[in-house]
Order: sequence, then C-alpha cells, then structure tokens
Amino acid sequence: MTTAYAPVLPPAAATPRASLIGRSQAELHALLGALGEPERQAGLRARQLWHWLYYRGGRDFAAMTTLPVDLRRRLEQACSIARPEVVQEQLSADGTRKWLLRFGDRRTVETVYIPEPDRGALCLSTQVGCSLTCSFCHTGTMPLVRNLGAAEIIGQILVARDALGEWPVPAGARRLSHLVVMGMGEPLLNYHETAAALRIAMDADGLGFARRRITLSTSGIVPRIEAVGRELGVGLAISLHAVRDELRDQLVPINRKWNIAALLEACRVYAAGADRHLTFEYVMLDGVNDSAADAKELVRLLCGLPAKVNLIPFNPWPGAPYRCSPPERIRAFAAIVARAGYPAPVRTPRGPDILAACGQLKTASERRRKSPARAA
Ligand code: SAH
Ligand code: SF4
Repeated sequence: MTTAYAPVLPPAAATPRASLIGRSQAELHALLGALGEPERQAGLRARQLWHWLYYRGGRDFAAMTTLPVDLRRRLEQACSIARPEVVQEQLSADGTRKWLLRFGDRRTVETVYIPEPDRGALCLSTQVGCSLTCSFCHTGTMPLVRNLGAAEIIGQILVARDALGEWPVPAGARRLSHLVVMGMGEPLLNYHETAAALRIAMDADGLGFARRRITLSTSGIVPRIEAVGRELGVGLAISLHAVRDELRDQLVPINRKWNIAALLEACRVYAAGADRHLTFEYVMLDGVNDSAADAKELVRLLCGLPAKVNLIPFNPWPGAPYRCSPPERIRAFAAIVARAGYPAPVRTPRGPDILAACGQLKTASERRRKSPARAA
C-alpha cells in the first residue's frame, strides 16, 4: 500500500546469513523447506525451532537438541539467531535499566526495562531517531535514520530476557510481564515491522505476552489507529499533550496533518471495538498546557470515550526549551480530570538519573551521520 505518510529508508540490509529472529512461524516453515527439510517434517521443525528461539531463549543451534544434528548444522551454516550487540547497560537508582543496542549497520537504539514490585515493562524502540520533531522530546531532536526491522524490535525483548535471566519464559509471575511501544520512534510510521514483531511477542507458545499486556503509543498517525485495534488488539496510548490545535500544532507537529478532531474520531472508532482500553498521555509543561481551562477542555474532548489520562511530568534533557509544571498545578489539573470520572494518575519518572524516562532517549546516530570524520 502506498500512502502519503509512508516514511523513509527500509530496515538495514540482511546479514549474509538469514536472520531467523523476527520471522513468522509460516516463514520459518518455508525457510526450512528451502534448506531441504521434507514438507511433512518442516511444520514440526518450525514449531520446535520457535520453541527454542522464543520460549527457551536459545542462542546456539547446537544446543537445540530436539532438532536432528544435521539440520542444526545446516541452520548454523545458513542462518543467524544473533541478538543486537549490547554496547552499554545502565542501572538507575530506582532499578530501571537502559540498554544501548547496536545493529549490524552500527546504528544504535535504546531500550528501557521498568521494574515494579510484582511486574515489569520493557519500553521498545521502533525507529532509529524519529521524523516527527515534537518540541518537548529528546528523540525528536534526532533526524529519522531508519526504521527497525521486526528482528531488531524482537531482539530488544530477547536481550532484556537474557539480562533478567527469564528463560524459559515463566508460566506465572514474570519480571518482564508487559511491553510498551513507547521508546524511540513513531511505531505507526513503521507499522508493518512493528506489527510483525508484536505478533511474534504475543504468540502463546513463545514469548507469550497477552495482548492486554501490550500498549502501543502514537503521536497520532490517524489512518493507522483503527488497524491497531482490529489487527493487533493491543492497548493504545495517544500522545495528546494539548487540547487546542494551535498549541498542538507546535508541540506535536503531526497535528498539522491530522488535527485533534480527526484524532479523536479515530479513537472513537478504535474504542468501539470490544474490550479496548485507551490511554491519553499528557506531558505537563509549565505555563504551556497546564491551566485549569486546559483540564476542563480535555474533559470536554474526551466526553463519551472510555479513557484514562496519564499525566507525565515533563522530563528534562540537555537544552530542552521547557520546564516541568510545579507539583501543585499538576495536582490541580489531575483533580479536574479525575472529578469528571477519568482516572488521571501522575506518572513517576523512572530512571531519570540515566536519562531513561519518557522522551529522554536519544543515541549518537545523529552525530555519526552528520560528521563521520569527527565520529571516527
Ligand atoms: N512516538 C510515540 C512513542 C514514543 S514517545 C509517541 O509519541 O507517542 C512516548 C511518550 O513520551 C509520548 O507520550 C511522548 O509524547 C512522551 N514524551 C516525549 N518527550 C517527553 C518528555 N521530555 N517528558 C515527558 N514525556 C515525554
Ligand atoms: Fe517522535 Fe514520539 Fe518523540 Fe514525537 S514524542 S518526536 S513522535 S518519539
């Protein structure tokens, strides 16, 4: 499908050995056929391989003992199951972990694990950089370098599970129980690869993330919103941040293409599906979008939508042009929204000491791209 909002560069060129990570089970089946597995065996082998990759976290074909030895050898020669390279791991005082990951073409992204007492979420990146230049977001100061492939999105989950020692995937309580697609990039401008990765993540015979434990955040790519509900069924978070088009045009410039009315109409269509939860994210910017009048207008806009509002205190980054609203103003804003019947929790920033909180992620790709000589 060609669309006016189709982005940029494709994922990085494949490594010489075909990556098995990020492929559907049907694709694995076909690939095993191409490797010489007889058709009557290929389905079983694809299921076994899937189990090793996504349930047991296998990193080595030789250890996949349910597969025949000669098939393991053929896979070793022709295929790769390599993870992204972990360049750096940082641990925050609050237990949040951030990984800087590098892919085959040396591009990097960040991935963040946010622990809670009885669960934990991984915040996935979907692009290197972002094309959308939201004025309060650190990632938005990077140009879009490229989309991530499904393998690179799934690779982030595998790295986190490796680090947390959660293989095989536990049946009960898990340290890594939820996925939030809220890292670097706009997932709905890389919908195909993001959807492929989430389908793999949701498979009950592998990584096993129930769709209710996945939330995808978008700045408002309206034509894709309904598909998130219909095709994936995962939770949706909308980065609203302003209740008037004039201000949202500045804060979230994609609003000039799809304005607040168009965005909320798409949300209504999404919410009409069974059992859909909808979250609105609202960053609290001192003196910009945090007045009582803004809160009242927000309530008016949400009227009739089954929604919750996450109030995110602005997370600063070097050179950011905003300050966070003072706590009493955030409390007053939250009270107006909550009184109208919408849950309005104020998010505690996680991992601020390692720049891991919402909107703080950024990697060195920009510098490397703009000035290769200096980077070298
Ligand atoms: N591109 C997607 C997902 C990534 S951003 C989106 O925009 O929704 C994840 C969330 O962090 C979004 O709600 C985003 O608006 C918010 N965010 C960005 N910069 C922030 C900052 N500096 N402080 C607090 N929240 C921020
Ligand atoms: Fe991109 Fe989201 Fe940041 Fe906007 S808030 S620049 S869409 S990552």
